[in-house]
Amino acid sequence: MIIDRREIERMLAAEGEAMQELFARAAAVRDETVGPVLYLRGLIEYSNICRKNCLYCGIRRENRSVARYRLTPDEVIAAARYAGERRFGSVVLQGGEITTEDHIACIESLVVRIKSLFPASPLGVTLSFGEQTEATYRRWFRAGAHRYLLRIESSSERLYRSIHPDDGLHRYEERLRALRALRRVGYQVGTGVMIGLPGQTLADLADDIVFMRDMDIDMCGMGPYVEAEGTPLVERCGPPPERDYRLAMALKMIAVLRLAMPDINIAAATALSSLSPDGRLDAVRCGANVVMPNLTPRRGKEAYRLYDDKSSAIDSRLLCERIGWGEWGDSLRFGKKNK
Ligand code: SAH
Ligand code: SF4
Repeated sequence: MIIDRREIERMLAAEGEAMQELFARAAAVRDETVGPVLYLRGLIEYSNICRKNCLYCGIRRENRSVARYRLTPDEVIAAARYAGERRFGSVVLQGGEITTEDHIACIESLVVRIKSLFPASPLGVTLSFGEQTEATYRRWFRAGAHRYLLRIESSSERLYRSIHPDDGLHRYEERLRALRALRRVGYQVGTGVMIGLPGQTLADLADDIVFMRDMDIDMCGMGPYVEAEGTPLVERCGPPPERDYRLAMALKMIAVLRLAMPDINIAAATALSSLSPDGRLDAVRCGANVVMPNLTPRRGKEAYRLYDDKSSAIDSRLLCERIGWGEWGDSLRFGKKNK
């Protein structure tokens, strides 16, 4: 069943009982399609050094109050070993966008080392290091990474421009190019958007859902926009909607995406927890099937502040869900496409 755009917009406007029904339907579709299983990805925040200057992001290049760090290879490997020993099945390596040969080679060798840690059942490896050349994506893929996260942030070119500097380094076209390159190389491709940006309309959000369906993505990570100290977004674009609105809208987006694309992986984004202690649990209850417990060593975790009060501790109630221990939990949709 294809849900048309008007129907998407109507669902996103749901409130009260209609919203609760939407959530319940999405959870049921998740259970019937990808199964009632929650997959864990140990999140390793490799470095907050970034060449970009996204207006919303706490670790943007021009935020001088941030102490910059990069984990050592041994710190990364220790975190990955922990993920394997705890039978998480997969890790996500994420960090600022750097395009130097040194950085590319470091990530490449880290992926090789992580893949060889548990030869009998190697960890799944997802990367998230922004826009890179197709050749770089290919090197990392050959090293053993098989999933990549790169959010479109907003599928509206107008909104994308409004939340990024106009300096030639933050181009919407370039972001699309990178997403297509990832697909060609053979990754399971994940994208997503921020919800509750200043100037974002219900129609924009409906377009985001249509965009993800048209792009035929395999995975999605999306969450609310959260204010970040030392960033100019609010000053430049105006205040975002109320926190409760952002939270409810983020959950509705997850639910509607689950109905629109039943067989993809959808993550319960960490940003949800910054707006509500129950944020990620609620996301799982309305269609998400992936969570990312943070395994970054403390010295990094404190400096990797994409937004304010990022609480990364996993709610123990999440672990009452049925967990896919030791499994990669690949995107079902990707599997079907590549049969
Ligand atoms: N540099 C990489 C990965 C790290 S940023 C990249 O940009 O892809 C990962 C995600 O954090 C971004 O895609 C963005 O959607 C999210 N993010 C950054 N600042 C945020 C904020 N203030 N509120 C909510 N999400 C934010
Ligand atoms: Fe860098 Fe990613 Fe933050 Fe943009 S969102 S400033 S690319 S870390």
